[in-house]
Amino acid sequence: MSKIDIKSMTLEEIKNEVIKLQLPAYRAKQIYSWLQHKGVTDFEHMTNLSNDLRQKLNEKFFISNTNIEKRLASNIDNTVKYLYVLNDGKYIESVLMQYHHGYSMCISTQAGCKMNCSFCATGKGGFERNLLPSEMLSQIQTAQIDNNIRISNVVLMGMGEPLDNYDNVLRFLKLVSSEDGMNIGMRHISLSTCGIVDKIYDLMQEKLQLTLSISLHAPNDEIRNKLMPINKKWGINSLLKACKEYIEHTGRRISFEYAMINGVNDSIQCANELASRLHGMICHVNLIPVNSIENGQYQKSSKEHLYKFIEILEKNGITATIRRTLGSDIAASCGQLKGKHTKEVHN
Ligand code: SAH
Repeated sequence: MSKIDIKSMTLEEIKNEVIKLQLPAYRAKQIYSWLQHKGVTDFEHMTNLSNDLRQKLNEKFFISNTNIEKRLASNIDNTVKYLYVLNDGKYIESVLMQYHHGYSMCISTQAGCKMNCSFCATGKGGFERNLLPSEMLSQIQTAQIDNNIRISNVVLMGMGEPLDNYDNVLRFLKLVSSEDGMNIGMRHISLSTCGIVDKIYDLMQEKLQLTLSISLHAPNDEIRNKLMPINKKWGINSLLKACKEYIEHTGRRISFEYAMINGVNDSIQCANELASRLHGMICHVNLIPVNSIENGQYQKSSKEHLYKFIEILEKNGITATIRRTLGSDIAASCGQLKGKHTKEVHN
């Protein structure tokens, strides 16, 4: 019988297991606290449990870990990039960022990614597997322990497509925000998607108070088809229709990510087209100068293009910002470190 992933279980579920083992209910709280608050990596560390109980737990359950394989700290800002290794030897990346309001962690939701966006380093490495809810929690816990800090914000913007691992991501969101767990409120969580439209409708039904970010990157199907294969399945019209309904249904503003790529999507015409598409929506546009990846054909837009683009959006009543680049000296963008590490190991 394969072991059960105990850190992905809610307090209620652990209580049921504890009852099955004919133990008093308070044991569940102790176990849950070790897993959620202290982020222990081994049942042996649960020192207020008897040896016998620790052994019983170890026979039935496992604790998923994210062990630090590489840690890169930026010399420019306080960004720390982690290359984590999972229990089965797969690698994922997370980034810890310090803002004036506290610490924010960008986590991965899959090892690799199926979406294959043409500008993204993760896609180039292919897809390995979905992450467990516990492995998403562990990314945060390991960084908290490593830096002796409490992380207040989480963004699901690392490797992988969160809505392509929907059930595990939803369970993670419920665990991480639960008051008896890590208690990171939904309003402090952002989820970024390339636009898996049917899952946006599912997420809408949950009415979560998180911030939904849409990786839009283009104002029309012609350009978006070239950048993001997912657009061939769900084009811009159906994506933006889902976004409008999402805003109506949840009352939450949507954030659109737009990587500015020289000569591809950064013209005045693109800005006007984007402005008219987003007209009347409660949204915000985040412009990100594209990070060129190894062998990538894309270059960052010039400052003039960025400012002109923003000016057009704002003139049309759409708020927009240029995203600050953190950790630019440590390959902090998603997929860059893993790609580099895999190459080093194989050379
Ligand atoms: N799959 C999700 C989340 C992971 S990617 C999504 O698509 O949103 C996180 C963000 O980084 C996305 O907005 C993605 O489009 C963007 N991104 C990926 N590679 C990039 C690059 N080279 N330059 C700028 N942004 C990039």
